[in-house]
Amino acid sequence: MASGKADLHMHSVYSDGRLTPRELVDKSSKAGFQAMSITDHDTVGAIEEAIDYGQSKGIYVIPGLEISAEIDDMEIHILGYFIDYKSENLLEHLSSFRKSRLVRSGMIVDKLNEMGSKITIGNVMSQAGEETAIGRPHIAMALNEEGFVGSYNEAFYKYIGDGKPAYIRKPNTSAKDAIDLISASGGLSFVAHPGRFVSDDVFARLISYGLDGIEIVHPSHKKEGMANLQRTAELNFLLTSGGSDYHGGSRNDHKNFGSYYVTIDQINNMKRRLTY
Ligand code: AMP
Ligand code: MN
Ligand code: MN
Ligand code: MN
Repeated sequence: MASGKADLHMHSVYSDGRLTPRELVDKSSKAGFQAMSITDHDTVGAIEEAIDYGQSKGIYVIPGLEISAEIDDMEIHILGYFIDYKSENLLEHLSSFRKSRLVRSGMIVDKLNEMGSKITIGNVMSQAGEETAIGRPHIAMALNEEGFVGSYNEAFYKYIGDGKPAYIRKPNTSAKDAIDLISASGGLSFVAHPGRFVSDDVFARLISYGLDGIEIVHPSHKKEGMANLQRTAELNFLLTSGGSDYHGGSRNDHKNFGSYYVTIDQINNMKRRLTY
């Protein structure tokens, strides 16, 4: 259906989202989307359940994920779509990314303990399931539960936000390796929410690594920025994607859901680019 719409960027409880895969499918279906993708950080744990449940609800679920990567010492997120989410190679890599997230979370917990918090890595892990990509959101929840902070946001602005006293950078895979991993898994790679942070030079390198597309529609993008990104995509024969980046945590999130989407035509263009 050419007039259909799809939200291709959202997070479930398998990473730092609040809703289960089924709840996200229901929410997308109620919003009138014909297709959707759950793009959890460094995990594909939500996909199978979402696809199966989506089928029963008549909504097409594209297997997706969002890999944290780096280029020039800068963190950059790479979205993958139409990946073979059962690929052993992919699963092994993702499991190692999650392990390094856990190690880094332990280091953040140590710093917080020095600052007077009594939380343990166990408290942090109990905020999440087994296949969950643990991150600062789970630490923030543990700190809030402990009462060391009065709110989730306070944890970030006082302690674990970028550059704050208990912040430790996450060691990420290189952007080239992330793009390679996605193509080795049969998928298409998109640079997530590049906003103002990705220079022409970085774009050129990502393209030389085999980047397939750019996420144009995203709540952090202004109209003019989106027009510039669209031009970059057209000049370089890149695909375009978009979505709400819904996590289910903040009030803005709830407002955004339903308003950030791509057309089914864009998805068809992606499918044409897939090589089997
Ligand atoms: P991590 O991947 O462990 O570095 O955690 C990053 C996640 O933490 C982001 O995807 C956001 O969901 C959340 N986050 C980062 N900075 C803030 C902030 N200042 N306030 C609230 N949430 C944040
Ligand atoms: Mn997130
Ligand atoms: Mn992101
Ligand atoms: Mn995201």
